[in-house]
Amino acid sequence: MSEASTLFKVLLSVVLIAAPAVAFSLLYRTAPYGRHGARRVGPTLSTRMGWVVMECPSALAFAHFFFRGPNSLDAVPLVLATLWLLHYVHRSFVYPLEMRVGANATIPVAIVSMGFIFNMINSYLNGTWVSTYGSYPSSWFDDPRFFIGVVVFAAGFFINRQSDAILRTLRGPGETGYKIPEGGMYAFVSCPNYLGEVMIWTGWAIATWSLAGLSFAVFTAANLVPRALANHRWYRDTFPDYPRTRRAVIPWLL
Ligand code: NDP
Repeated sequence: MSEASTLFKVLLSVVLIAAPAVAFSLLYRTAPYGRHGARRVGPTLSTRMGWVVMECPSALAFAHFFFRGPNSLDAVPLVLATLWLLHYVHRSFVYPLEMRVGANATIPVAIVSMGFIFNMINSYLNGTWVSTYGSYPSSWFDDPRFFIGVVVFAAGFFINRQSDAILRTLRGPGETGYKIPEGGMYAFVSCPNYLGEVMIWTGWAIATWSLAGLSFAVFTAANLVPRALANHRWYRDTFPDYPRTRRAVIPWLL
Protein backbone atom coordinates (compact mmCIF):
# COMPACT_ATOMS: atom_id res chain seq x y z
CA MET A 1 0.00 0.00 0.00
CA SER A 2 2.86 2.36 0.81
CA GLU A 3 4.04 2.35 -2.84
CA ALA A 4 0.55 3.20 -4.16
CA SER A 5 0.23 6.51 -6.01
CA THR A 6 -1.23 9.61 -4.36
CA LEU A 7 -4.18 9.43 -6.76
CA PHE A 8 -4.87 5.84 -5.65
CA LYS A 9 -4.75 6.74 -1.95
CA VAL A 10 -6.93 9.83 -2.39
CA LEU A 11 -9.62 7.96 -4.38
CA LEU A 12 -9.59 5.05 -1.93
CA SER A 13 -10.08 7.47 0.97
CA VAL A 14 -12.91 9.24 -0.89
CA VAL A 15 -14.80 5.95 -1.41
CA LEU A 16 -14.31 4.83 2.19
CA ILE A 17 -15.40 8.19 3.59
CA ALA A 18 -18.32 8.58 1.15
CA ALA A 19 -19.86 5.16 1.96
CA PRO A 20 -21.45 6.05 5.33
CA ALA A 21 -22.67 9.40 3.94
CA VAL A 22 -24.25 7.60 0.97
CA ALA A 23 -25.93 5.05 3.25
CA PHE A 24 -27.27 7.79 5.51
CA SER A 25 -28.68 9.87 2.65
CA LEU A 26 -30.22 6.81 0.91
CA LEU A 27 -32.01 5.88 4.13
CA TYR A 28 -33.90 9.17 3.81
CA ARG A 29 -34.12 9.55 0.03
CA THR A 30 -34.31 6.40 -2.09
CA ALA A 31 -32.53 6.62 -5.47
CA PRO A 32 -35.27 7.47 -8.04
CA TYR A 33 -35.26 4.57 -10.50
CA GLY A 34 -37.42 1.46 -10.97
CA ARG A 35 -40.36 1.33 -8.54
CA HIS A 36 -39.06 4.45 -6.75
CA GLY A 37 -38.73 6.42 -9.99
CA ALA A 38 -41.90 8.54 -9.90
CA ARG A 39 -40.11 11.65 -8.64
CA ARG A 40 -39.05 14.13 -11.40
CA VAL A 41 -35.26 14.33 -11.48
CA GLY A 42 -34.17 16.00 -14.71
CA PRO A 43 -33.37 14.41 -18.07
CA THR A 44 -33.65 10.65 -18.57
CA LEU A 45 -32.25 7.87 -20.78
CA SER A 46 -33.84 4.58 -21.85
CA THR A 47 -33.41 2.12 -18.98
CA ARG A 48 -31.51 -0.44 -21.08
CA MET A 49 -29.12 2.15 -22.52
CA GLY A 50 -28.68 3.72 -19.09
CA TRP A 51 -27.63 0.39 -17.55
CA VAL A 52 -25.08 -0.27 -20.31
CA VAL A 53 -23.57 3.21 -19.97
CA MET A 54 -23.55 3.07 -16.17
CA GLU A 55 -22.05 -0.41 -15.84
CA CYS A 56 -19.67 -0.65 -18.82
CA PRO A 57 -16.68 1.01 -17.03
CA SER A 58 -16.72 -1.92 -14.62
CA ALA A 59 -15.93 -4.25 -17.51
CA LEU A 60 -13.94 -2.03 -19.90
CA ALA A 61 -12.08 0.31 -17.51
CA PHE A 62 -11.34 -2.58 -15.14
CA ALA A 63 -9.83 -4.57 -18.03
CA HIS A 64 -7.77 -1.51 -19.04
CA PHE A 65 -6.42 -0.80 -15.55
CA PHE A 66 -5.84 -4.48 -14.83
CA PHE A 67 -3.99 -5.38 -18.02
CA ARG A 68 -1.63 -2.40 -17.87
CA GLY A 69 -0.34 -3.70 -14.51
CA PRO A 70 3.01 -5.54 -14.35
CA ASN A 71 1.51 -8.62 -12.62
CA SER A 72 -1.53 -8.99 -14.85
CA LEU A 73 -0.35 -12.25 -16.44
CA ASP A 74 0.42 -13.93 -13.09
CA ALA A 75 -1.90 -16.80 -12.19
CA VAL A 76 -3.66 -15.38 -9.09
CA PRO A 77 -4.33 -11.90 -10.55
CA LEU A 78 -5.66 -13.57 -13.71
CA VAL A 79 -8.08 -15.74 -11.72
CA LEU A 80 -9.25 -12.73 -9.69
CA ALA A 81 -9.76 -10.64 -12.84
CA THR A 82 -11.69 -13.51 -14.43
CA LEU A 83 -14.11 -13.56 -11.48
CA TRP A 84 -14.62 -9.78 -11.71
CA LEU A 85 -15.10 -9.80 -15.48
CA LEU A 86 -17.41 -12.82 -15.36
CA HIS A 87 -19.75 -10.73 -13.24
CA TYR A 88 -19.37 -7.42 -15.03
CA VAL A 89 -19.40 -8.48 -18.67
CA HIS A 90 -22.78 -10.04 -17.90
CA ARG A 91 -24.01 -7.08 -15.82
CA SER A 92 -22.94 -4.50 -18.45
CA PHE A 93 -23.89 -6.15 -21.72
CA VAL A 94 -26.24 -9.10 -21.07
CA TYR A 95 -28.38 -8.10 -18.07
CA PRO A 96 -29.66 -4.87 -19.69
CA LEU A 97 -30.88 -6.85 -22.72
CA GLU A 98 -32.60 -9.45 -20.53
CA MET A 99 -34.45 -6.92 -18.33
CA ARG A 100 -38.25 -7.06 -18.56
CA VAL A 101 -38.99 -3.34 -18.63
CA GLY A 102 -41.54 -1.37 -20.67
CA ALA A 103 -40.50 0.04 -24.07
CA ASN A 104 -40.69 3.58 -22.63
CA ALA A 105 -38.94 2.82 -19.32
CA THR A 106 -36.37 5.46 -18.39
CA ILE A 107 -33.65 6.09 -15.81
CA PRO A 108 -32.45 9.56 -14.77
CA VAL A 109 -29.21 10.77 -16.39
CA ALA A 110 -28.15 11.88 -12.89
CA ILE A 111 -28.25 8.26 -11.61
CA VAL A 112 -26.42 6.97 -14.71
CA SER A 113 -23.75 9.68 -14.35
CA MET A 114 -23.17 8.98 -10.66
CA GLY A 115 -23.01 5.22 -11.32
CA PHE A 116 -20.61 5.76 -14.23
CA ILE A 117 -18.24 7.92 -12.17
CA PHE A 118 -18.28 5.52 -9.22
CA ASN A 119 -17.68 2.53 -11.51
CA MET A 120 -14.71 4.29 -13.14
CA ILE A 121 -13.12 5.03 -9.77
CA ASN A 122 -13.89 1.58 -8.42
CA SER A 123 -12.48 -0.14 -11.51
CA TYR A 124 -9.32 1.92 -11.27
CA LEU A 125 -8.88 1.05 -7.60
CA ASN A 126 -9.53 -2.67 -7.89
CA GLY A 127 -7.96 -3.28 -11.32
CA THR A 128 -4.81 -1.37 -10.34
CA TRP A 129 -4.58 -3.01 -6.93
CA VAL A 130 -4.82 -6.59 -8.20
CA SER A 131 -2.24 -6.25 -10.99
CA THR A 132 0.06 -3.47 -9.72
CA TYR A 133 0.15 -2.70 -5.97
CA GLY A 134 -1.09 -5.99 -4.49
CA SER A 135 1.19 -8.98 -4.00
CA TYR A 136 -0.35 -12.27 -5.12
CA PRO A 137 2.25 -15.02 -5.59
CA SER A 138 0.95 -18.47 -6.59
CA SER A 139 1.03 -19.49 -2.90
CA TRP A 140 -2.03 -17.21 -2.43
CA PHE A 141 -4.07 -20.07 -3.99
CA ASP A 142 -3.36 -22.06 -0.77
CA ASP A 143 -4.33 -19.22 1.56
CA PRO A 144 -7.68 -19.75 3.37
CA ARG A 145 -8.60 -16.11 2.60
CA PHE A 146 -8.50 -16.86 -1.12
CA PHE A 147 -10.57 -20.02 -0.72
CA ILE A 148 -13.17 -18.48 1.63
CA GLY A 149 -13.42 -15.36 -0.54
CA VAL A 150 -14.01 -17.34 -3.72
CA VAL A 151 -16.66 -19.50 -2.01
CA VAL A 152 -18.51 -16.40 -0.71
CA PHE A 153 -18.19 -14.75 -4.14
CA ALA A 154 -19.58 -17.87 -5.89
CA ALA A 155 -22.47 -18.24 -3.42
CA GLY A 156 -23.35 -14.55 -3.85
CA PHE A 157 -23.12 -14.86 -7.62
CA PHE A 158 -25.54 -17.80 -7.60
CA ILE A 159 -28.03 -16.03 -5.29
CA ASN A 160 -27.85 -12.77 -7.28
CA ARG A 161 -28.38 -14.44 -10.66
CA GLN A 162 -31.09 -16.79 -9.43
CA SER A 163 -33.00 -13.91 -7.78
CA ASP A 164 -32.77 -11.61 -10.82
CA ALA A 165 -33.95 -14.54 -12.99
CA ILE A 166 -36.98 -15.08 -10.72
CA LEU A 167 -37.89 -11.38 -11.06
CA ARG A 168 -37.75 -11.70 -14.86
CA THR A 169 -40.29 -14.54 -14.83
CA LEU A 170 -42.84 -12.27 -13.11
CA ARG A 171 -43.53 -10.22 -16.23
CA GLY A 172 -44.80 -11.44 -19.56
CA PRO A 173 -43.77 -9.61 -22.76
CA GLY A 174 -44.94 -5.98 -22.56
CA GLU A 175 -45.99 -6.21 -18.88
CA THR A 176 -44.67 -3.54 -16.53
CA GLY A 177 -46.43 -4.19 -13.17
CA TYR A 178 -45.11 -5.75 -9.98
CA LYS A 179 -45.96 -9.13 -8.38
CA ILE A 180 -44.85 -10.91 -5.22
CA PRO A 181 -41.71 -12.92 -6.08
CA GLU A 182 -41.56 -16.51 -4.81
CA GLY A 183 -38.92 -19.24 -4.77
CA GLY A 184 -35.18 -19.35 -4.10
CA MET A 185 -34.04 -16.93 -1.40
CA TYR A 186 -37.31 -14.97 -1.73
CA ALA A 187 -38.54 -17.44 0.88
CA PHE A 188 -36.42 -15.46 3.36
CA VAL A 189 -35.91 -11.89 2.07
CA SER A 190 -37.51 -9.32 -0.24
CA CYS A 191 -34.24 -8.45 -2.02
CA PRO A 192 -32.06 -11.55 -2.35
CA ASN A 193 -30.52 -10.06 -5.50
CA TYR A 194 -29.04 -7.31 -3.27
CA LEU A 195 -28.01 -9.88 -0.64
CA GLY A 196 -26.18 -11.81 -3.39
CA GLU A 197 -24.52 -8.62 -4.66
CA VAL A 198 -23.22 -7.71 -1.20
CA MET A 199 -21.92 -11.30 -0.78
CA ILE A 200 -20.13 -11.16 -4.15
CA TRP A 201 -18.12 -8.07 -3.16
CA THR A 202 -17.57 -9.27 0.40
CA GLY A 203 -16.09 -12.43 -1.14
CA TRP A 204 -13.97 -10.27 -3.43
CA ALA A 205 -12.73 -8.22 -0.46
CA ILE A 206 -11.75 -11.43 1.39
CA ALA A 207 -10.14 -13.07 -1.65
CA THR A 208 -8.09 -9.95 -2.46
CA TRP A 209 -7.57 -9.05 1.23
CA SER A 210 -7.31 -5.42 0.17
CA LEU A 211 -8.63 -1.98 1.13
CA ALA A 212 -9.73 -1.53 -2.49
CA GLY A 213 -11.89 -4.65 -2.22
CA LEU A 214 -13.14 -3.63 1.22
CA SER A 215 -14.11 -0.17 -0.05
CA PHE A 216 -16.25 -1.73 -2.79
CA ALA A 217 -17.94 -4.21 -0.42
CA VAL A 218 -18.74 -1.41 2.04
CA PHE A 219 -19.99 0.92 -0.71
CA THR A 220 -22.21 -1.82 -2.19
CA ALA A 221 -23.80 -2.43 1.21
CA ALA A 222 -24.18 1.34 1.74
CA ASN A 223 -26.01 1.57 -1.58
CA LEU A 224 -28.15 -1.57 -1.51
CA VAL A 225 -29.12 -2.14 2.14
CA PRO A 226 -31.12 1.15 2.36
CA ARG A 227 -32.75 0.32 -1.00
CA ALA A 228 -33.64 -3.17 0.23
CA LEU A 229 -35.32 -1.60 3.28
CA ALA A 230 -37.28 0.78 1.00
CA ASN A 231 -38.29 -2.07 -1.35
CA HIS A 232 -39.39 -4.17 1.63
CA ARG A 233 -41.59 -1.33 2.98
CA TRP A 234 -42.98 -0.86 -0.54
CA TYR A 235 -43.88 -4.58 -0.86
CA ARG A 236 -45.60 -4.55 2.55
CA ASP A 237 -47.53 -1.36 1.73
CA THR A 238 -48.50 -2.56 -1.76
CA PHE A 239 -49.51 -6.19 -1.12
CA PRO A 240 -51.76 -6.84 1.93
CA ASP A 241 -50.99 -10.58 1.62
CA TYR A 242 -47.19 -10.07 1.57
CA PRO A 243 -45.46 -12.88 3.55
CA ARG A 244 -45.05 -11.58 7.13
CA THR A 245 -41.95 -13.62 7.97
CA ARG A 246 -39.95 -12.34 5.00
CA ARG A 247 -37.17 -9.90 5.97
CA ALA A 248 -35.66 -7.15 3.79
CA VAL A 249 -32.15 -8.40 2.98
CA ILE A 250 -30.61 -10.58 5.72
CA PRO A 251 -32.56 -13.77 6.51
CA TRP A 252 -34.16 -13.69 10.03
CA LEU A 253 -32.31 -10.46 10.95
CA LEU A 254 -32.98 -7.39 8.78
P1 NDP B 1 -34.63 -4.51 -8.68
O1 NDP B 1 -34.84 -5.76 -7.89
O2 NDP B 1 -35.28 -3.25 -8.21
O3 NDP B 1 -35.15 -4.73 -10.20
C1 NDP B 1 -34.58 -5.69 -11.04
C2 NDP B 1 -35.50 -5.88 -12.26
O4 NDP B 1 -36.66 -6.65 -11.88
C3 NDP B 1 -36.04 -4.58 -12.84
O5 NDP B 1 -36.22 -4.78 -14.23
C4 NDP B 1 -37.39 -4.42 -12.16
O6 NDP B 1 -38.31 -3.65 -12.92
C5 NDP B 1 -37.85 -5.85 -12.03
N1 NDP B 1 -38.64 -6.12 -10.82
C6 NDP B 1 -38.26 -5.86 -9.54
N2 NDP B 1 -39.20 -6.28 -8.68
C7 NDP B 1 -40.20 -6.79 -9.41
C8 NDP B 1 -41.47 -7.38 -9.07
N3 NDP B 1 -41.84 -7.53 -7.79
N4 NDP B 1 -42.30 -7.78 -10.07
C9 NDP B 1 -41.88 -7.66 -11.37
N5 NDP B 1 -40.69 -7.13 -11.76
C10 NDP B 1 -39.86 -6.70 -10.77
O7 NDP B 1 -33.06 -4.34 -8.84
P2 NDP B 1 -32.15 -3.10 -9.34
O8 NDP B 1 -32.72 -2.63 -10.65
O9 NDP B 1 -31.94 -2.13 -8.24
O10 NDP B 1 -30.75 -3.86 -9.57
C11 NDP B 1 -30.60 -4.80 -10.61
C12 NDP B 1 -29.32 -5.62 -10.39
O11 NDP B 1 -28.18 -4.77 -10.34
C13 NDP B 1 -29.34 -6.41 -9.08
O12 NDP B 1 -28.75 -7.66 -9.29
C14 NDP B 1 -28.49 -5.57 -8.16
O13 NDP B 1 -27.87 -6.38 -7.18
C15 NDP B 1 -27.49 -4.94 -9.12
N6 NDP B 1 -27.02 -3.64 -8.61
C16 NDP B 1 -25.77 -3.55 -8.04
C17 NDP B 1 -25.34 -2.37 -7.47
C18 NDP B 1 -24.01 -2.29 -6.76
O14 NDP B 1 -23.81 -1.39 -5.96
N7 NDP B 1 -23.05 -3.17 -7.01
C19 NDP B 1 -26.17 -1.16 -7.51
C20 NDP B 1 -27.46 -1.36 -8.10
C21 NDP B 1 -27.85 -2.57 -8.62
P3 NDP B 1 -38.44 -2.02 -12.74
O15 NDP B 1 -37.13 -1.47 -13.23
O16 NDP B 1 -39.62 -1.68 -13.57
O17 NDP B 1 -38.64 -1.77 -11.26
